[in-house]
Amino acid sequence: MLLLAVDLVLIPKIYSYLQKQRTNKILTTISPWQIGHCSRQIAMAMLQFPQERLTPQQLLVFEHGNSMHDRYQSYFEKMGILVAKELPLNSKSENKWTSHQCKILRIRGRTDAVVKVDGVDYIIELKSAKDKSFNNMKRYGPYESYRDQLQLYMFLTQIKNGLILVENKDTQELAEFDFDYNEDHSGRLVKKINTINDYVMNLSLPPIEFKADSFECTYCGFKSICRQKDVEKYIKENAVWLQVLLKAQTHPDYFKYRKEGA
Ligand code: SF4
Repeated sequence: MLLLAVDLVLIPKIYSYLQKQRTNKILTTISPWQIGHCSRQIAMAMLQFPQERLTPQQLLVFEHGNSMHDRYQSYFEKMGILVAKELPLNSKSENKWTSHQCKILRIRGRTDAVVKVDGVDYIIELKSAKDKSFNNMKRYGPYESYRDQLQLYMFLTQIKNGLILVENKDTQELAEFDFDYNEDHSGRLVKKINTINDYVMNLSLPPIEFKADSFECTYCGFKSICRQKDVEKYIKENAVWLQVLLKAQTHPDYFKYRKEGA
């Protein structure tokens, strides 16, 4: 006999816990994982625009991604190839170059892992994908947004070799894609970051760059407000609080760097 609970005891508590975990982070900085996405979307997140709530299923998909990271970090550690799991990328990073770049670009995040294989260091980007998407990547290569993320990690750490490791969620098949550091590519990303920061620090938004029916807009948490006529009203109403928050989360080196027009 099937005994499916009618008055749910545990599931609502799990969903509410996951939702709370996500809404606890109030950051006006840029996370490297965002970099391949819409500039306006990144700026809206930095300026704390209210996002559409993720469904419980979407929250669990994110958690699944996180647990994949833990699993592979543990494999790398046991294989004896792990150099660092989740290398911090922020103004307090031990590596001086990384710390400086994070200050002047207002970046805060972490890598998935760094491994050493046959004497070579690699930045690792871990992804999981459904069967269709996995096979598309095998055919055409990883999504541009994944490549952007990896190039940004390589730029910030100065580790010149990168691998994107993708696990098929339906079959557990693996695919790996290797990339060398590309200065032109990272230069374009730095330019994009500076532009986004300029908008955010001026309490404004970059223009719309995607069509409403595009993939990017369809899955964007700001799609219901992005095209509203008075979209920047939210910023005006919260300007004082936002300015305090931005100042608190910006290193003095950032202002020096932008003043010099770098
Ligand atoms: S709705 Fe589209 S254009 Fe607007 S922020 Fe989201 S992704 Fe960008």
